[in-house]
Parts: sequence; structure tokens; C-alpha cells
Amino acid sequence: MLIAGGAIVTGDNTKPIPEGYVLVRDGRIVDVGSGPGPPSQDDEFIDAAAQIVLPGIVNTHAHGCVEGPFVPVGSPALAKSRVQAELDRHLYGGETTVLCVCGFCLPREIDGSHSVRTCLATSHTPANFSAADLVDGRGLSSRHRTMTVERALEDGAVAIGEIGAGHSLGGGGQDYLYIPNVIEQATGVRLRPDQARQLKWAILGRTLSRDAFDAKQTANCLHTLGLSGKLQVSQARQFIENSVLPSVATTLQGFEEAAALSAQTGARAVLHTSPVSVGIIAKLAKKYPGAKLVAAHANQSDFQTDEALEWARRLRDLGVTIDISTWDIPGKAIQASPDNFLQMLAADVVDTVSTDYAGGEWEPILKGLALAIKAGAVSLAAAVALATANPARLFPALAPNRGLLAPGKIGDIVLVDAEDIGNVRTVIIGGKIVVRNGVGIGETPR
Ligand SMILES: [Zn+2]
Ligand SMILES: [Zn+2]
Repeated sequence: MLIAGGAIVTGDNTKPIPEGYVLVRDGRIVDVGSGPGPPSQDDEFIDAAAQIVLPGIVNTHAHGCVEGPFVPVGSPALAKSRVQAELDRHLYGGETTVLCVCGFCLPREIDGSHSVRTCLATSHTPANFSAADLVDGRGLSSRHRTMTVERALEDGAVAIGEIGAGHSLGGGGQDYLYIPNVIEQATGVRLRPDQARQLKWAILGRTLSRDAFDAKQTANCLHTLGLSGKLQVSQARQFIENSVLPSVATTLQGFEEAAALSAQTGARAVLHTSPVSVGIIAKLAKKYPGAKLVAAHANQSDFQTDEALEWARRLRDLGVTIDISTWDIPGKAIQASPDNFLQMLAADVVDTVSTDYAGGEWEPILKGLALAIKAGAVSLAAAVALATANPARLFPALAPNRGLLAPGKIGDIVLVDAEDIGNVRTVIIGGKIVVRNGVGIGETPR
């Protein structure tokens, strides 16, 4: 297969080749260079004119890609059709490898028929099981509960995590799901995520402390949300505290278990990052210098931008990998604005870019990177490296021999519009075309 006529971005943050070619044989890349490429009548020709050729995107933080316990609180599995829809969205977004960090899933629950390569992370530690049960845990069977991180890694899990979640640490999962549920039950009014967050902050502050309670602000907030006739301040306080606080301490214990296991096994540990957990991550990085920690979605919207930048720098100095997530960029519900995402890229404090889940509203990585390139926050070559060579290097078992356009690498290749890299045209996995001009080719063997 000869792909030629477009720009080539190899993934390792070197200067793009303005017009070049990629030659693929037997599923592997055999040659990459400038110009039209070697002429051959036998090769399938893919015209990349007005497009950019990239390595397949490697997503280190996705949820709902496996028909097993959903999100890090062990909720019931999504239906098979939902899982396939999630995988399709990753595929049409140019993501050829995804790491599902729901944490409790088992290899048998992976949909092996889908062309996206799906890998697992493991969070099977005692405190993580307890934290899941404090919030949900309905998706956990005895098969999940008897698994351990050590055995899961032997069975093929490529990382530890995700440890903690918005559900268990008073973040997004509380804002878009649990707080709206409890308020709706009491009042019949369904809050939007930003409204739930506003109420949560009035009652518990941004670091979730009982001492932060502000009665006047809570009363004002209830008034603004149209709840003042329906809910007393004291009731609201009780509802929010009962929804948010019970799981926090146990979840943070799970962070320590994960850091110790990371130091012991060498597996990278993906840690939920928010104002509630970020101090613990810094502490654990110092306590377990052998641990490989990832501050996941370090652009989380509860951080003010200067705060997010400051933490990213501090954690990076401690050897922590800094990941940021697109979420619902440019901001539909969960993430009020893309400021943290763009500013962190502009400050060059980021190692990987992932999607995370955002209550199902997530946007593909390339959409987020397209926005950042347009905003001038990052160069094309650097942006692509954050989602290809970087994750492949940092998670070696996730994308072995992938993440680069170079001879010998596996032929996971994506063609995007030159004018908008968020617009994915063609996806090639293992040298086989699975999406052509934005249309799926049907099932291909993995
Ligand atoms: Zn998280
Ligand atoms: Zn997550």
C-alpha cells in the first residue's frame, strides 16, 4: 500500500514532511520519505492530497470501551451496542488503540471483533473495591472481586488505574450524575452539571471540606437554581454531603495502594486528578520514587488555570506524567471552557492527551488537538506526538511497535484533512483500511 501526496507527521515531534509517502507491506511500514514514493503497479494507492498522514492515535484514558464494570466505581456494564458505539467513536476519531481505565474489567469482557485495539488497566485493590461499593459496585461479580492487580497484569493489563473518579472524589461524576439524581428525587428539578457544581462548591468548597460550608452562598445558590421554595439550606447541605463525602477517604487510600503496586510491578498507575487528590499524588510521588504515576486529566475543570499549571510543573519535577483530556471540548456541559487544556499545552507541561469520558460527551483527541493548533497553543508535530509516540513510549505494553511512522512499525495510520486535523478521512489498522473517506469498511480481524 502506498500512501502519498500529502504531508507526513511521523509522531516523534520532528518537522513534518510537506509532501511525502508511507509504504506499507504485510501490515508493517517499510518506508517513509519525501516525494511521491517508489512507483509500483501492484501497490494499492491512497491519495493523501490536501491531507496529513499521522500514526494511529493512542488513547491512554477512555471509559466504556469494554462490556465490564463501568467507570472506576464498578457500575453495571454498558450494553454491548453502547460499547460498540463508543469504540466506533474512537475509531472514526482516528484512535486505533484505546486504554480502557474503568479498572475492574477482565480480558474476556473485551469485544475482540472490533478493529480498535482495546487494552485494560487494573484497579483491583482492596481500597478500590471498598470505594466502589461505597458509591456503586453493582457491576462487580465474584470474578471481578477475586482479581488482583498482580494477576491482572499477568493476564495482560497494561497499566494500573484509574484510581478514583469524579463519582468517588466529588468531581464530574457527582456533577453530572449523583447530585442531579438526589436533588431531582427531592425536588423534581434536574440540575445541569454546572449547576450541581455550583451548589457543591457553596456547601463543600473546591477541596471538599465540611468547614468550607457557606450558608449565605448556599441560600443564594438555591435561589438562583429555583430551589429555594423546595429545599432548605440544611437539607441541601445534608444531601450534598451524603452524596459526595462518604467515599473520599477510602478512595484516597486506593491511591496509596496503587502507588505501592506501581513501584513494585513497574506498571504505570493512572490516578484521577482534581483539587481533592492532587496533593496526595505529589505526596505519593515523593514517598514512592520508584512508582510511575500519571496525573490523569490534570486540566480538570475544578482547577483554576494558574493552579493547574502550577501543579503540573510541580508534579512533573517529581517525575509524574502529566495527562490532559479533551472531555467535551470546546465545552458543552462538563468542562465550562477549554482554557486549562489550551493553557497547559501552550506552557508545554503536558506528556499525553486523552479523551476521558465526560458523562459520554467526550470529543476525540484529534478534535481537541485541532482546536489547540488553531489557537496557536501547540505546533502540529508536537500535538501529534502527545497522542502517538509519547503514549506508546510511556505505556510500552499498550501500543508495542506503534505510535510512529517509521520503517518496521505496525501499519496503524490515519489520514486527516490538512485544514482541520479533527476531520478524519481514512483509518488504517495493521495495514488494513477500516475507515475510508469517513465510512467504515465493516468488520476486520484484529
Ligand atoms: Zn478521572
Ligand atoms: Zn477517567
